[in-house]
Amino acid sequence: MVCTWVRTERTERTEKRCVQLLARGRLRYGCSALSVLSALYSTMPVDILALAAHRDDVELTCAGTLLKAVDAGYKVGILDLTAGESGTRGSASLRAEEAERAAKILGVSERRNAGLPDAHLQNSEETRRLVIDHIRHFAPRVVVLPFPVGRHPDHRIASELGRDACYLAGLERYPAAGSAHRPHKLLYALSYREDPVKPTFVVDISAQFERKLSAIKCYASQFDGAKAAGEIFPTGQDLYSLVETQNAHYGSLIRKRYGEPFFTHETMEVDDVLKLGVRSI
Ligand SMILES: [Zn+2]
Repeated sequence: MVCTWVRTERTERTEKRCVQLLARGRLRYGCSALSVLSALYSTMPVDILALAAHRDDVELTCAGTLLKAVDAGYKVGILDLTAGESGTRGSASLRAEEAERAAKILGVSERRNAGLPDAHLQNSEETRRLVIDHIRHFAPRVVVLPFPVGRHPDHRIASELGRDACYLAGLERYPAAGSAHRPHKLLYALSYREDPVKPTFVVDISAQFERKLSAIKCYASQFDGAKAAGEIFPTGQDLYSLVETQNAHYGSLIRKRYGEPFFTHETMEVDDVLKLGVRSI
């Protein structure tokens, strides 16, 4: 099921009212307020959750890895933090339709939108609590986050907000919806970064690249005729060929056609050095 869920003032008011009524023991099953609350608090466990600031960020940075996980039988979720209402091109409603089409191509179990303000993202008490609600809903083992350095302030803040929310979601007594859950692994998507950070690993997405490009092309309002996007600086090529060039570069780092790079702060464990891939000389 693909679902775009936006927290609005109305759902926020309903949630507060439900909590008050529940506290007083006056909420009856079957009332619409309770159905809103249960939709809010229900869990939809996934193996991997990709979290990003804007619709289309996930497609650009890690869609191949998500497709590969779905191909392997894992469940994948996406949490877009903003609706993209401040973007120069298109509109929030058009981007919602495009995001839904892209999610179908990626085969994700559920795509949600946190409804936070585009271009005004903050890592605050309020936004952490909201993101924790969503993380507990998805209860992922692995979370893909944006890299902590970025050209767009929303990308940097989404990285920090996502990381903080992943930690706090595991605190039993943190006052947010759902049961405590702390993801096992955080991966930072390193695509298009120019900082001198070597990827911790690259995922071979050669078999997924064409579908990744199809998912990116769903965002015609953003990318048709574009020469740059987000963290991708222009070179004169159209954006789609620029994405191919970049993904081919990451692939070459592991001697494959196409790849997506990731960074982790912690050291990767190797069990059998004889099975290490990627030729040295
Ligand atoms: Zn973005």
